[in-house]
Amino acid sequence: MAKLINGKEISDKVVKEVGEELQKKKEEHPGFNACLAIVQVGNRSDSNVYIRNKLKKAADIGMGTRMVNLSQEITQPELEAEIDKLNNDPEVDGIIVQLPLDCVNKIDADAVIDRISHEKDVDGLTRENAGRLMRGELDRTIFPCTPYGCLHLVQEATGDKNFVQGKRVVVLGRSKIVGSPAAALFLWHNGTTTICHSKTQNLPEVCRSADILVVAIGKAKFVKGDWVKPGAVVIDCGINVEELEGGKRKLYGDVDFDTAKEVASHITPVPGGVGPMTVAMLIKNTYLQAVERRLGAKNGSL
Ligand code: NDP
Repeated sequence: MAKLINGKEISDKVVKEVGEELQKKKEEHPGFNACLAIVQVGNRSDSNVYIRNKLKKAADIGMGTRMVNLSQEITQPELEAEIDKLNNDPEVDGIIVQLPLDCVNKIDADAVIDRISHEKDVDGLTRENAGRLMRGELDRTIFPCTPYGCLHLVQEATGDKNFVQGKRVVVLGRSKIVGSPAAALFLWHNGTTTICHSKTQNLPEVCRSADILVVAIGKAKFVKGDWVKPGAVVIDCGINVEELEGGKRKLYGDVDFDTAKEVASHITPVPGGVGPMTVAMLIKNTYLQAVERRLGAKNGSL
């Protein structure tokens, strides 16, 4: 029976540590703070929940926040001009654009993301930072939050910072936000990494070769227990929502938790696994970028 990886507890620990470091830096450098700016176009209710959570986590540790609410009618040039304002604002350390955009006009979201200065790209999604990650320039990029959370969960759950080294890692999914950067991150932490997608053949067999299996495909309970190598670490990024009667909702991961937990050594639940880590790593990235940009230093202790 697998050990449950408690993402809530591990993410709380990350945020607490960042909070303590932030406090120290404020004392050492009067006037210092880190500030996260969130850009929202329109008013999707699911986005509102995610944004509230991010703002609260930042505020809880005394990090500054800036919320930029923009109309559904905004155009591409207007939206890019808003990003430029934040890029040029010395009080802003991290910028994220909440996706998907809720806009009546056709907007090239990739171009909007790419407009973010790569030093303030705390989601790590600009081409510049994504390219650097792919090339293994780990000191010169910003790790995308969900993949960073996956890596941290593996390290914390196993109690070994170098656990990935030499392991076979299989990542299911190759999106820009999760699968591709997760594969790069595990590769450059010296895993032997395979990426699978919708055209991969013999998927169960490939999954069974994994010491670490990271799943991000958006299909409820897709990965079965007999796809999991005995003793593997299973990280499930999936968030699949089932609408129940009375407006209630139930969340499922991409892994069939009940069968996989019988085989894995460690496994994340959904909810309470990868989800909370994404926000924690965003807070951490924002703090680290503030230290680097404002103080010209890397924070080695985190
Ligand atoms: P995308 O839809 O962008 O990508 C899905 C990927 O899965 C694609 O690469 C696709 O392959 C692959 N895929 C789809 N079906 C299959 C299949 N049958 N077999 C093998 N591969 C398949 O999703 P995201 O990466 O954005 O998100 C994945 C999941 O993670 C979702 O449930 C999402 O909600 C969740 N998520 C969770 C976050 C968190 O904070 N916990 C953050 C972001 C996402 P192909 O490229 O060939 O189409």
